[in-house]
Parts: sequence; C-alpha cells; structure tokens
Amino acid sequence: MTTVRRLGIYGGTFDPIHFGHLAIVEEARWFCRLDQVLIVPAAAQPLKEGHLAAAHHRLEMVRLACAGNDALIPSSLELDRPPPSYTVDTLRVCRERYGPEVELFLIIGADAAADLPRWREPDQIAHLARLVVVERPGYPFDPASLVAAVPAVRDRMIVLTGPQLAISSTDLRQRLATGRPVRYQLPDAVLAYVNHHRLYQVEE
Ligand code: ATP
Ligand code: MG
Repeated sequence: MTTVRRLGIYGGTFDPIHFGHLAIVEEARWFCRLDQVLIVPAAAQPLKEGHLAAAHHRLEMVRLACAGNDALIPSSLELDRPPPSYTVDTLRVCRERYGPEVELFLIIGADAAADLPRWREPDQIAHLARLVVVERPGYPFDPASLVAAVPAVRDRMIVLTGPQLAISSTDLRQRLATGRPVRYQLPDAVLAYVNHHRLYQVEE
C-alpha cells in the first residue's frame, strides 16, 4: 500500500466530471508531488443553486474518470454525511483519518478560490491544508485580494497556471440538453454513462 505523506483533496459537484477537472488535478499532483488525491463529490454545494444529477450518478462518473490512475481516489466522504458539505469539515475528517503526519493540499480552481472568503471558516481551511489554486480561463485570479480577505492564506497558497482548459460542467449540461457535441471534453466512459442514464437530457 502507498504510504500517503502528501494528500490532495479535490472537491466539486462534478455534474459531470470533465477533462478540465482531471487536467488540473494532474498538474497539482505533479507540482506538489502528491501521493494521492481524493476526488470528493459534494452532497449539496452550499453556494450553488440549480438541479444536480443524483449523488450516486456523480460519484459513479468520478469512479469511471479515475479508473486507470492509482493516484486518484474517488471518495464518498461528503456524500456519507448529511448535506450541506463544508470543506472545513472534510479537511478535519481527513486530518483524523490520515493522522497528524500527513500534509493536506486543497486543490481549487480560480473561480472557487475567489469565493473562499464566503466559505465556512476560511482561516481554518488554510490552517488545515495548503491551498493549491489552479488558474481557469475567464476567471482572473488576484492572490493579494484573497490574502487581504483571508490572512491565514498567506504562505499557505500555491498558484499554478495549469493547462487552461475552458471546459465547464454548466456548458456540458447545456450541450447535452440541446444535442450539441461534448466528446473530447470528458472521458469516453463518463460520456457513455451519461448517455446510458440519459442524464442532463431535457424531458419531452
Ligand atoms: P459548474 O459549471 O456546474 O459549476 P464546473 O465545471 O465549474 O461546474 P465544479 O464541479 O463546479 O465544475 O468545480 C470543481 C472545482 O474544479 C472547482 O474548484 C472549480 O474551480 C474547478 N474547475 C472546474 N473546471 C475547471 C477548469 N476548466 N479549469 C480550472 N479549474 C476548474
Ligand atoms: Mg463550478
């Protein structure tokens, strides 16, 4: 079994998971020399509105996307707890499960990072984990204003340029609902699952 000393934690709604997600995790894994990354679908995103595919579908799509990469670990940690999911609680659970020796790295995209001041206990989040912010096209990121809003983030933040893929789940859902193509924006196995279960199709 791999000894985990450096653990990445990557949360999202993954509705559905796509190559933008996987590519930033790979960048963070490589840059931060992470032994493993937990991919953690949220039960209900406290700041997010609108319809979500059922949790079991989102988790299954994450499983399919992680297949073949031993460093990526699908995690039902947030789905096993009653919603809403708070990142600070997830980090506390990881700290307990993996022990005091493990170093935690929270991976987030630039849009989510800009929102961090509105999350529950942002200072605690920065105390519990290093913050790995990966840039995202269309979301200019200003590290100074994040540090001003959440001082604990100073010296705890790594900003990565990343592969800059302008893929979003919202766009994929709209494409799927209107019959436009999504192939090459997400893993084939995930697309096959979406089609099989008719996720994101508009009811006639
Ligand atoms: P939605 O459009 O439904 O919000 P999304 O594509 O933004 O979906 P989320 O599940 O909301 O995906 O995102 C999970 C995490 O991944 C967030 O930290 C987000 O910033 C990051 N992320 C998602 N897509 C990208 C991308 N293309 N490049 C960089 N970061 C991304
Ligand atoms: Mg999003």
